[in-house]
This record gives sequence, C-alpha cells and structure tokens, in this order.
Amino acid sequence: MNVLFAASVEDPQLWLRLLRAALPRDTLVLPGEVSDPAAIDVALVAKPPAGLLRTLPRLRLIQSLWMGVDGLLADPTLPGDVPVARCIDPGMIAAMSEIALAHVLDFHRHLFRYREQQARGVWRQLPQRLAAETTVGVLGLGELGAAAVRALRGAGFPVLGWSRRARTIAGLETFAGRAGLDALLPRCHVVVCLLPLTAETRGLLDASRLRALPRGSGVVSLARGAHVVAADLLAALDSGQIAHAWLDVFETEPLPAEHPFWRHPGITLTPHVAALTDPRTATPMVVANLDRVRRGEAPLHLVDRSAGY
Ligand code: NAP
Repeated sequence: MNVLFAASVEDPQLWLRLLRAALPRDTLVLPGEVSDPAAIDVALVAKPPAGLLRTLPRLRLIQSLWMGVDGLLADPTLPGDVPVARCIDPGMIAAMSEIALAHVLDFHRHLFRYREQQARGVWRQLPQRLAAETTVGVLGLGELGAAAVRALRGAGFPVLGWSRRARTIAGLETFAGRAGLDALLPRCHVVVCLLPLTAETRGLLDASRLRALPRGSGVVSLARGAHVVAADLLAALDSGQIAHAWLDVFETEPLPAEHPFWRHPGITLTPHVAALTDPRTATPMVVANLDRVRRGEAPLHLVDRSAGY
C-alpha cells in the first residue's frame, strides 16, 4: 500500500523509522514526495496541510495520529466519504491518567495552597483529609476518562462519571445527559474534564456549571480549552467559588502572552502536554489499522462524524 505521512507537527523521522520497520512491504511518503495522488491508500495525519486530503481520490482511510479529532473534523476540505480513525495510544492514555491523578492530588493535599503560602513566606498547616473525603467528577468516560477513573479510584478517591449516553462501569456511579450533569456537579469537590470538543460540549464549564459545584472546588481541564468559558472561570476564581484550576488546554494555543490565565494565582497551567502521542506505543495500533485496510476489513476506532468525536 502507499501511505502518506502528513503530520509534520509530529516527529516524522521517528514515526517513519518505526513505521518502515513495521511495514516493510508498504511505501511511506511525505506530502512533498507524492508523485501520483491517485496511488495513496491511507493518510496518517496530524494537522495535515489544508486541502491536501481532498486531492487523494483513492484514499481508503484517514488515520489521525491524535486522539482528539475536532480540528480535523472542522476542516471544510476534509473528504466527507473517507473513514476517519482516531489514534488510541496506550502510552498517551497512561500519561493522561498520571496527570489527572497528579492534579487531583495537588488539590486534595493542598499543594497549590502551600505553593501560594511559600511565595508569601507563610507557615500554616491545613487539615489533612482522607482520599475518601474528596469526590472527583470525571466528565467523559471514553478512552481517557475511563482510564483516569481507574487511576483515581486506585488512589482511593470516590469518583462519579459523566457521559453522553448512559454507561455501566462496574462499581462506578455514572450520570448521563444534561440532567445527569446537574445531579453530578453539586457532589464533586473537583472535576476533571476529558470530553471531546463538540457543538454540545463547547462552553460547558460556564458560570452556572461552576456555581453548581460546592464552594472551594477544583477544576482540571485536560481535553480542549473551549470547554471552559475563560471569563466565567476567572470570575469564579476571584470570588473563591473555585479554589484553583489546572489548565492544560486553551482556546488559542500557544496561550497569548497578555492572557490573564498566565498570571492568575488561582491557575496552574501547562502548555498542552497532558498526554502526547508516543510513536513507540502508538505504532502498533496504526499498523493494525493499516493491516485491516489491506485485508478489506473495517478499521478500528472510527470517528462518528455525526456525533463529532
Ligand atoms: P472518547 O473515547 O471519544 O470519549 C469521549 C467521552 O466523552 C465519551 O464517554 C462520551 O460519551 C463523552 N461525551 C461526548 N460528548 C458528550 C456530551 N455531549 N455529554 C456528555 N458526555 C459526552 O475520547 P477520548 O479518547 O477519551 O479523548 C477525549 C478528548 O481528550 C479528546 O477528544 C481530545 O480533545 C482530548 N485530548 C487532550 C490531550 C492533551 O494532551 N491535553 C491529549 C489527548 C486527547 P459516550 O460514552 O456516551 O460516547
């Protein structure tokens, strides 16, 4: 098969080395090397050049190298009739679980408060809580959310989970739909957002949802910046309704230098690094999907374009 690697934002050298070793019979090319667009069977993509995919008439699969596909689906030049698959990378899932747990522990053990106190030279001991006293709400129970739930429960936190459709996960109290979110939020001390960005989830964490949390709660935003209404979060932090927010993702990235998030004492921010695709752990899944295309089988992890994820 002929495979186009259109992901210059990833590490093409590492990816191509791993893919060529795993796919010795296939031909892998970069966008500048395509001599016959009609010969390309599969495109591996992460931010592909605009309009490139619609020039490939025989394309059988668009394989994202990322788990989030909101940017790809928003591209008006994306061919409508070619299946799109997400990358399900165990290394990335593990990384996301680690960071979700790290931030929940930061909240639970008051580490963010001790950093503030250190900056002011304040020696003040805060009450030590049991993990059983900090309830965590996980928004999104997909590949990342479900793994984060396991990590958090493993650390002893009571967890409540929210999804679009009703889900049954052994031992987990689950909620679905808008009414489910209304019931879940007042019971959470900290929420972890691991939702895809869709028309339904954009702006989800707004003033009313932040108000629905108990006073002094924490917000951990790890999926997409547009889930959070920035002005509403800043107001909730200023009023003390939200004690602290851990933000990895932003509506505009890199976060503009003048953005108030940079300097707000109630925010810990990281530069969209919660979970990066690791070619070493992602390659087997990509190879498995290429083999399925080769055999004429349906690829795994297909995106439901009507749902937007
Ligand atoms: P996924 O497997 O597609 O799961 C999405 C979950 O969200 C599902 O449980 C789904 O509900 C739920 N959901 C979707 N729309 C909803 C709605 N309107 N109301 C309630 N629940 C809704 O996604 P994933 O692989 O876990 O990834 C989630 C997101 O993480 C990605 O889309 C990406 O944006 C982000 N991400 C960020 C980073 C980073 O480094 N910061 C890295 C990777 C991914 P159902 O179960 O009912 O379908």
